Amino acid sequence: MTRQAPLIAELVNLATARWWRGASVRPLTGEELATTFAARLGDHMSAAVRAVPDAGARLAELAAGLRQALLAERPADQAAHINAMIRRYGAQPYLAEDVGQPFHLHFHGSGDSQVEALGGEFATALALIVDGYGPDRFGECEAHQCEAVYVDLTRNGSRRYCGTACTARAKTAAYRSRRQS
Ligand SMILES: [Zn+2]
Repeated sequence: MTRQAPLIAELVNLATARWWRGASVRPLTGEELATTFAARLGDHMSAAVRAVPDAGARLAELAAGLRQALLAERPADQAAHINAMIRRYGAQPYLAEDVGQPFHLHFHGSGDSQVEALGGEFATALALIVDGYGPDRFGECEAHQCEAVYVDLTRNGSRRYCGTACTARAKTAAYRSRRQS
């Protein structure tokens, strides 16, 4: 699940954020979304995702579902969203051996494309994070003009921003407002 967390946030941000790191951005759709997100995946997975017909539309649907789950206000709603995604994508645990690595657990979805397979992985990763860390590990960046989401796997759950750029922007803004007051 630590492997999946940054990819989950990346997909949601590429496909849904209208503000990111202080700038107005256009959520990606279609071919552009598929190509940009696939570039973040390993070679094998990247080609498989790009080969899926309507990959962009399928990724956009997955991103919308993930965003709802990540930003649900009540733990019960969050759990219901995640459970619905596990069913929707037909996630199934199985052990797989990648080259040079010991057997480890995958949760590929059993749907008809590589995007549905990813959906199963992502939905299960969210469930494992809630189970292992609690329900408060997802959020929307608190920096000015940023709608990006983050997944917080820090030990103490202290994360508030989508990345280093927004952490730096927020620090600068706080410093300025202290000097003015
Ligand atoms: Zn941000």
